[in-house]
Amino acid sequence: MPYVIAEACIDVKDKACVDVCPVDCIYEGEKMLYIHPDECIDCGACEPECPVTAIFPEEDVPATQQQYIQINRDVFKGENPPHKPTR
Ligand code: SF4
Ligand code: SF4
Repeated sequence: MPYVIAEACIDVKDKACVDVCPVDCIYEGEKMLYIHPDECIDCGACEPECPVTAIFPEEDVPATQQQYIQINRDVFKGENPPHKPTR
């Protein structure tokens, strides 16, 4: 089960998570970052790096933010998918 980026990342986007991901599966969108669910190896390295606790293992996403599981998946299928993060 992949890790998921949820609501708290919106407009924060400091990208601390990007630096520690061993497989570069965290991508940048307009408002927030997203984890590609098929590329994430479930290592957990990103979770403690996030200053606003936006990252959760899929099974631990808070009840009020469950929609982000699908959002992290669907965003890669949209017309304007997230890209490799820029610095
Ligand atoms: S859990 Fe590991 S592989 Fe998945 S996004 Fe986080 S750092 Fe990358
Ligand atoms: S560390 Fe957290 S707030 Fe920063 S970009 Fe990653 S998910 Fe977003």
